[in-house]
Amino acid sequence: MKLVYTHENRFLVGNAQNILEQAGIRVVWKNEFSSGAIGEISPFDTWPELWVVEDTDYEQAIDILSNAFNTPSAPEWQCAQCNEQNAAVFETCWNCQTEKVGLAQ
Ligand SMILES: [Zn+2]
Repeated sequence: MKLVYTHENRFLVGNAQNILEQAGIRVVWKNEFSSGAIGEISPFDTWPELWVVEDTDYEQAIDILSNAFNTPSAPEWQCAQCNEQNAAVFETCWNCQTEKVGLAQ
């Protein structure tokens, strides 16, 4: 297995998992339940991690994620409800689940 993605934000890791599984790549979580209590700062090594099961899928997985998360034409957007920054791939705010669409008023 190879580590393909990790982030302190579990929602981002879950999103990466969805993207890869839709592409037919098997992935598993590590450190899924190791986050500290709310308000604690988790050290880097307890971030949730996403691993590809088959090493041969690794290169493709990296390509897919780099395309999904680093698309120049899809900038981050700011939630009008809580002002959090959200990656363009998300249709709802990772923090408060406010929908991206309909925010402009
Ligand atoms: Zn929000």
